[in-house]
Amino acid sequence: MIIDGHVHLLPRKVRRNRDRYCEIDRGFGAVYSSGKSRLATDTDIIHYLDESSIDKAVVFGFPWEKRDLVRENNDEVWDFHDRNPDRIIPFAVLPPHPTEGPYREASRTLGQGFAGIGELAMYHGGWSLSDFEALQPSLELAGAKQAPVLIHVNEPVGHHYPGKQPVDFRGLLHIIESNPKVDFILAHWAGGLFFYALMPEVRAILERTYVDTAASPYLYSSEIFQVARIILGPGKILFGSDYPLLPFKRYLKELEKAGVEEQTKGKILGGNMEELLSGETKVGGFSLKLRGATVLENI
Ligand SMILES: [Zn+2]
Repeated sequence: MIIDGHVHLLPRKVRRNRDRYCEIDRGFGAVYSSGKSRLATDTDIIHYLDESSIDKAVVFGFPWEKRDLVRENNDEVWDFHDRNPDRIIPFAVLPPHPTEGPYREASRTLGQGFAGIGELAMYHGGWSLSDFEALQPSLELAGAKQAPVLIHVNEPVGHHYPGKQPVDFRGLLHIIESNPKVDFILAHWAGGLFFYALMPEVRAILERTYVDTAASPYLYSSEIFQVARIILGPGKILFGSDYPLLPFKRYLKELEKAGVEEQTKGKILGGNMEELLSGETKVGGFSLKLRGATVLENI
């Protein structure tokens, strides 16, 4: 089973009038005002999955500043899932600012059946401690629903690119530690935060945290796959392409170059995500089925 864990679908009206939305929404403008950033349609996504022999994709929109647009984007993602229930796994975006009711949208979408929350991002100004703390009510809900939460995280160093924003790593660790029932997925190799899992106290905090590979070929040399495997273990790496940013074959090339062995490759390309979404969680060496089960409250 191959699952792409990081695919974007933006609202039709945005795709038709991109320049206007670059002006209206500062975060969108920061990422998409460069004509190089592509916008995919639902048809493009299905075509991409078919031609790459990818079974399923986790699909989500963009964290618009205005909640109406967030809702519209989530509704289009849900509709896409509805038309392709075996292939499209819907995650829900939330507006970045508390005044726009992120909790209400989290509650609406998770209640509707969305499989997770994300990709949450602060494309205008970056993530501060208070931004992370403002997520708390939505995170509690996600924890109760066993819905993973995907967060956009950048590296604090290196070259600049559209969408790269500062991230308060201490703040990020703080909310992860405060929400031990939540499975976090930190996009873009967690901006390198996972390196600190070599520190025992950080490893303990990141026990239920995954990283995804989105945009990896633009950011790291292929050795990152082996380094992450050694630090986090093969079960914590999720393939995500950031489609339409990069095609599947670029990631296969990186895996090849890194010499990742077949079993680990299978986990990265879909096995880990399948397990995560099924609600299987390893506790004390045992695999417990948690999603929807009463045992949930005891853990
Ligand atoms: Zn991202």
